[in-house]
Amino acid sequence: MKASETRTWEIERRTREMKRIYLLESTDPSYEATTDFIQAEPHNVSDGPNCPACGGPTGAFRWAPPLRAELETWGNRYGDMAFGPSESMLLSERFKELWLKSGLMGLEGFEPVEIVKVVRRGKRFKDPPPAYFRVVPQRSQAAFDSVASGEQWEEPPSPRCEVCREGGNSKGWERIVLEEEPRENICRVRGFGGVLVDEHFKRFVEENGLLNCPLVPAEEAAHWF
Ligand SMILES: [Zn+2]
Repeated sequence: MKASETRTWEIERRTREMKRIYLLESTDPSYEATTDFIQAEPHNVSDGPNCPACGGPTGAFRWAPPLRAELETWGNRYGDMAFGPSESMLLSERFKELWLKSGLMGLEGFEPVEIVKVVRRGKRFKDPPPAYFRVVPQRSQAAFDSVASGEQWEEPPSPRCEVCREGGNSKGWERIVLEEEPRENICRVRGFGGVLVDEHFKRFVEENGLLNCPLVPAEEAAHWF
């Protein structure tokens, strides 16, 4: 077998044996309930976590209180998730209540966020926003498999810390393949910037009709910068 055939076979085997993984995107292509946020001033941040091996930063700065945000809506309803320029995401009160009863894991925070302004870019609907809560997806021990994912680099990524997998300048990837299955149902993995969820998370979102949680199957989640 050629090396490329071996790799394809290995990816297929791993994909069969692991739970299905999806990339959580920040924009719903239907725009029905697309909701974004930006932090209102004063916007305080605290340092993100550091890698226990190399000591380098492993995440963005973390949004610190007071948690006050401006919302932007692009459809005719509010999303149950809202996305912004940080590791933080907002959950509606309904999402939060269902999540805390669900037994699923991978989110931390759940602090209330004061919505100080709503900018409606889509339909001009009048309802006030639901209560929103800030969450941060946990960092998983699982890692992105750069080779199996077909990642290409502007600059060679090495030397690169094997623990945090930070560093290097990525051109993009053909798909998302993980080295091992994450324990969490939603998380960030080592070596990949986006938020990943599993099939249990997908079912939770679908069964509860939660809005603005767009998911792309990992094998179709190609991205080029
Ligand atoms: Zn490191």
